[in-house]
Amino acid sequence: MTDIFETLESEVRSYCRSWPAVFERAHGSSLTSEDGRTYLDFFSGAGALNYGHNNPALLQPLLEYLASGAVVHSLDMKTPAKRKFLQTFQDVILKPRNLDYKVMFPGPTGTNSVEAALKLARKATGRQHILSFTNAFHGMTLGSLSVTGNSMKRQGAGIPLTNSSKIPYDDYFDGETADFLWLERVLEDSGSGVDKPAAVIVETVQGEGGLNAARAEWLRGLSDLCTRYEILLIVDDVQAGCGRTGTFFSFEEAGITPDIVCLSKSISGYGLPLALTLFRPELDIWSPGEHNGTFRGHNPAFVTGTAALETYWRDGAFQKQVGARIVQLHEGLGRIAASVEGAKVRGRGLLAGVIFPDAESAGKIAAEAYEHGLLVETSGPESEVIKLMPALTISAEDLDRGLDILTEATRAATEARELAGAL
Ligand SMILES: *Cc1c(COP(=O)(O)O)cnc(C)c1O
Repeated sequence: MTDIFETLESEVRSYCRSWPAVFERAHGSSLTSEDGRTYLDFFSGAGALNYGHNNPALLQPLLEYLASGAVVHSLDMKTPAKRKFLQTFQDVILKPRNLDYKVMFPGPTGTNSVEAALKLARKATGRQHILSFTNAFHGMTLGSLSVTGNSMKRQGAGIPLTNSSKIPYDDYFDGETADFLWLERVLEDSGSGVDKPAAVIVETVQGEGGLNAARAEWLRGLSDLCTRYEILLIVDDVQAGCGRTGTFFSFEEAGITPDIVCLSKSISGYGLPLALTLFRPELDIWSPGEHNGTFRGHNPAFVTGTAALETYWRDGAFQKQVGARIVQLHEGLGRIAASVEGAKVRGRGLLAGVIFPDAESAGKIAAEAYEHGLLVETSGPESEVIKLMPALTISAEDLDRGLDILTEATRAATEARELAGAL
C-alpha cells in the first residue's frame, strides 16, 4: 500500500524514509499507524507540536471556529481571530516580559520569518553583510540558506550564497580559544577586510546543527558586542522558542533582548502553519506591502495559537511542569550517555540529546528505537547526535517509557557494534 509514496512522491522526501509507517491517527504524544501500531513521538513535528497532537484545549476552539461560518482565509485583512491573537500575544507574552516588539506576519513558515528578518536588518542598517554561526540552521530558501552551515543543504542552492560569513559558535574550539576574539578583533580593525555586518543571526540552541547550546554568558557577550558596534541581533527562535527550553523565549534565561526575533513551528500550537517576525518598534520602517504573501496569518492558526497562549502561558503552572520534565529528561540522558564511552549529553531544556563518538551509533539507535515504537531523530553535521523533542505536555510516565526504549536501543546498537568490532 505504500507504492504511491515511492512512485509519485519526489526523491526529496526525507523523514518518511527513516519511519516508513503510514501514520493515521495521533493523540498527545502518540501516533498510530494504519496497521495499528502505536508509536511514542519524541520528534513532535520537529518542534511544531510542543503541546502534543490534537490537543483538546486547542481542537475544541478550532472546531467551533470552523463550524461557525467564520472567515478562514483573509490574507492580512482584519478579523476578530487576528485581533484576539494579537491582543493575547501582547498580554500573555510580551507585556509580562517587558518586551516592546512590533509583530509582523511574514508568511507561514520558519524560513519566511528568517527572510523577513534579514531583509529588514539590511533595510534598517543600509548594510548587506550578515554574520551567522558554524552549524547554524535557518531554513531552505536562498536568504536563509546563505546563513545556514550544512554543506549538503548549501550546495542545493545551485548558486553562490553570498553576503554572509560564518563565525564560530560557542565552544567551537572546545573552550581553548575565546570565541569572540576573532569577531571583536576584525570589527575594530579597519584593515581586517571584514565588512561591518547589518546583523548577527543566532540560535540559542542549534537544533539541526547538533544540539549545541550556547551558554548564557556567551549570549550576553554576543548581545553586548552587537550593541557596541551597532549590529542588529536576530535570535532565530523558530525551534527553541514557544517553551522548548523551559521559558517561552529561549533567550529569557540569558536576560538579553534581541532586536529581531523569529518564531514559527509551535506558535500556532496545533501544527498549523504560522510564523511571526518580532522587532523593536524603531525598526518598523517597512513600506506597506513591501514584504507580502498570501498566507500571512491564517485564521485557524490564530484560533489555536490564541488557545495555546491562554491555556499554557497565562500563569506559571505550565512552565513549572515543563521544568520538572526537563530535569527528568536530563537525568535519563545522563544515564544513557554514561553507558557509552565518549558519549555526552547535549542541548538545553526539552531540546536535548546525546552525542556519540562515532557517527553511526546515533543512526542505529534511532532505527532500533523505531522498531520498538519510539520516534527520535538524529541531528548534527554527521547525524551523530540523538535528538529528543518530546511534547512539553508529555506525562512523566510517557517520558520514562521513551527513555527506557532509548536505553534499550542504545544497548542493542552499541553491543552490535562491539560484536562487529570483535570479529
Ligand atoms: C525549522 C527551522 C527553520 C525553518 O523553518 P521552516 O518552517 O522549515 O521553513 C528555521 N530556523 C530554525 C532554527 C528551525 O529549526
